[in-house]
Amino acid sequence: MERLYTPWRRNYIVGAEAKINDEKEDKSCVFCDIFTDTPDNDSANLLLLRNVNSCILLNKFPYNSGHLMVIPLLHEGDLTMLSAEIQSELMYVTSYAVSILQQTYRPKAFNIGINMGKTAGGSISEHIHIHIVPRWDGDTNFMPVIGQTKTLPEELPQTYERLAAMIKNRPLLA
Ligand SMILES: [Zn+2]
Repeated sequence: MERLYTPWRRNYIVGAEAKINDEKEDKSCVFCDIFTDTPDNDSANLLLLRNVNSCILLNKFPYNSGHLMVIPLLHEGDLTMLSAEIQSELMYVTSYAVSILQQTYRPKAFNIGINMGKTAGGSISEHIHIHIVPRWDGDTNFMPVIGQTKTLPEELPQTYERLAAMIKNRPLLA
């Protein structure tokens, strides 16, 4: 899990290897590592929901409490390379994640978006993901907090338990 805390180091390593081994690079993706891990570790991995082609992950470095990510299971960094079926599921699951946050935390608003590519600020740009950040009046603006340490009112395991309980009560409909 050290990789998750040192994305800059991963960039360095990938650059140094000059993409000699694409297969090896794929195996070092933090998202793919979590998806392929046993479901017994979903709680430890902060994985909230496994769906057909996507999942909901609690962000380990949240901009705000309840910061979720909806991620395709397919290792792909380019939105346009995903099938229509996967694109549709991503939006469906994003909408579901929003509803779960609404029912759990009653936020006033949301920032929902994709940073596609490193130049756009994508920290794990080789595997596309949709950020869902709940917002309340008086919290910090979305952009300035990116990449900075922030004190949050709730610990991650507590957030995970609350959202997991809501998901159990209100399951995603097929
Ligand atoms: Zn991946």
